[in-house]
This record gives sequence, C-alpha cells and structure tokens, in this order.
Amino acid sequence: MNTLFPKYSRKQDGDIITMEQKLLKQVNNLVLDNSKCTGCGICFESCPEEAISIGPVGAVRKGAIEYGQSISINEKECSYCGVCVIMCPFGALDLKIDGESRLPIVEKEGFPSYDVTRIIDDEKCVRCTTCEDACPRDAIKRDVPDFEGVAADGLKKAEAVEWKVNFECNDEKCTVCGLCAEVCAALNVERKPFTAESGVPEGIVKWTESLCDGCGVCSEICPSDAITVAKEAESVQKKYGKVTIEENCCSCRWCAENCPTEAITVTKPFVGEIEFHAEKCPGGCSTCMDICPANAIYMPSPKSPADMHGKVEANIAVNQDFCILCGVCVNACPGEDIIVMKRTGINVTGKETDLFLTIKEKLLQPRTSKVKENVEVGEVELKTV
Ligand code: SF4
Repeated sequence: MNTLFPKYSRKQDGDIITMEQKLLKQVNNLVLDNSKCTGCGICFESCPEEAISIGPVGAVRKGAIEYGQSISINEKECSYCGVCVIMCPFGALDLKIDGESRLPIVEKEGFPSYDVTRIIDDEKCVRCTTCEDACPRDAIKRDVPDFEGVAADGLKKAEAVEWKVNFECNDEKCTVCGLCAEVCAALNVERKPFTAESGVPEGIVKWTESLCDGCGVCSEICPSDAITVAKEAESVQKKYGKVTIEENCCSCRWCAENCPTEAITVTKPFVGEIEFHAEKCPGGCSTCMDICPANAIYMPSPKSPADMHGKVEANIAVNQDFCILCGVCVNACPGEDIIVMKRTGINVTGKETDLFLTIKEKLLQPRTSKVKENVEVGEVELKTV
C-alpha cells in the first residue's frame, strides 16, 4: 500500500548527496559531502539504525574507480537522528531540518559532542607559514597581507617590525637651512623673518614622530651635521593579519607539533594507539599512506645495508603523533593483520547517554585489516580483535 507520508528521496549534485525524508509537517535532509568523506567508517559504526554501509574505501579515495562511494546511506532506513553528523570527525555530514542545520539530539542533551580544542594564540603566533604548509586538510586560514617584493602593492618590509626612532637636532649647529624639510614630510622648518639685527637665519626644526620612518636621509643631507637619527626595533614583530583554524581541521596536530612559538593547541577526539606490522605488508601497495587524511603514514627511507644490522627494511610505518585513530587505513588495507588499531577512549563533552555508550563500545573495539571474505562487491569487512 502506498502511504502518503513519509516520502523518501535522494539526489546527487556533484559531491553532494542529499537524502530526504518528507513528513507531513517537516522535511529532514541528511547531506553527505563526498569531497570531505574519508571513508573512516565511524558513521557506519555509529548509526543506530544500521542505515550506512562502507564501500571500497581504498579504491574510491585513490580515484581508481568511478562507481561506488566510500560510504552509502539508505535514505529509507535512516531515522535522521544526526548521530553520524556528530560522530563524523571530518564534518562530511550535515542534518537539515526544514532547511536549517540543526542537531535536536544534542539540543535535548540526548547525545554528547567531541571535546576537541583547535585554537591559535594570536599573541604567540608570529604569522609564519609552517602550519599552513604542514596541514594536510587545508584547514589553516592565513589571512596575512603580502609584503613588497611579493606583491607590488604589499606592505613595506620595515612595517613587519615595531620601531622606535630617536631624532635630535643640535640647535647650536643647525642653520635652519630648510633642506631637511624639503625631502621629508616628518620635518617642518619654522624660520623667523630675516632681520638685520641678527643678520642670520633663525628658527626651529620641528619633527613629527608619526611621519618619520627613521630612514636617516635628513641626517645624511644636513650640511651642518646637526641631525642625528637612531632607529631601533622595539619588539620582534608587529602584528598584522591573523591565522585561524577552519572547520575542516581533523585534529591531526601537524600544526601544533611544528609551530615554532607553540602558539597552537589542538586536541584529538580519540585516545589509543595504532600498530603497523610491517613484516606482514607485501609492499608496493601504499593505499593506507595515500588515503590517510592526517598524512601520518609513510614509507621509511631506505637505509644502506651496513645500517640494517641484519634486519629487514620496513615497507610502511606510522607516526603516532599525527594519527587521529580514524580507522580509514584499517578499512582500506587489502592485507591481513597488518594494521591494528586500539582506541581506548573518546573525548566528549555532554552527557554520555546509553545510546552513546553503546556506540562507544563499538568504536573502542580493537580492529585490524582483513582479507575480505563473504562480502558483496564494493563492501568492506572489518575484523575485530
Ligand atoms: S590539527 Fe591538523 S588538520 Fe587541524 S589545522 Fe592543524 S594541521 Fe590542519
């Protein structure tokens, strides 16, 4: 029997897939942005309705296949609760209620949110470019003006530093000739009318600090050697522009670990560890390294045989400092028991409700990669350990 409500539909516009549930008085949309989805599978494990499936993550993310997606959501099985939106560490999902992004389950304190910090201390930040270059997610917004040399209309180099200029004009030596004021707007020569009584030029040289850049030209050209200019840097750097962390930050900590002034604080959503059993990796695949959203996986640089001390060179390794325990490498690895991920905690704020605790238990289950068996084409299987 055809029922009038709810009505379900799905539409795709480029990377954006919109699932819709139309009720009599409300329209719910779950919006998936495939360009942000990493295939980590956290939504798949978090969905209370089991409405999400994981696809061939490695092949999709490497762009090897055009069919299939990292994840697929069944718009009819979805209850539009928003749990996947809350749990996605990459902001790839959005719940819209009557067109407005909202999460009623959080508003009603029915589910906690990740407790992560992502801040740059403006006082400590020196506006260098390290964080911007290190960030694997393009999440650093460096809104800093260019300098001359880089941009024709850029700031003068001297403006990068706060200067203090001390200007002195020796009245004994000064002949009030007016030459200094001819070349610089910071100087004004107030000459008295010539009188036969003194028979010489009289007056004063006035200096306006705010107009002086301490270039010292006045001192150089003064025919009477009356002017001295001393310029010294007051602070290491003048603050200009701003550097911020955007919403698409994945908490990998590349920026925080490498900031030269320790201006960045980033905390991770998951606690735990990941092990790479490189001796089981056949080598030559590099899928995990290619798709890691945190750029935490690498192929160790080859060593000379003399430095190997009889050991076999590892094919693959991970830097725990940058791993965010998202699990995408485990999902994508085509081998068996190579990557073992053990999450031991989730940093959240808000009440840890029964629904959250059930999901937490699943997410904290240690897991490893597995040679896929008994799965449909385009599906992924996990092995818990
Ligand atoms: S934590 Fe990682 S993703 Fe976030 S801004 Fe820093 S480098 Fe980028």
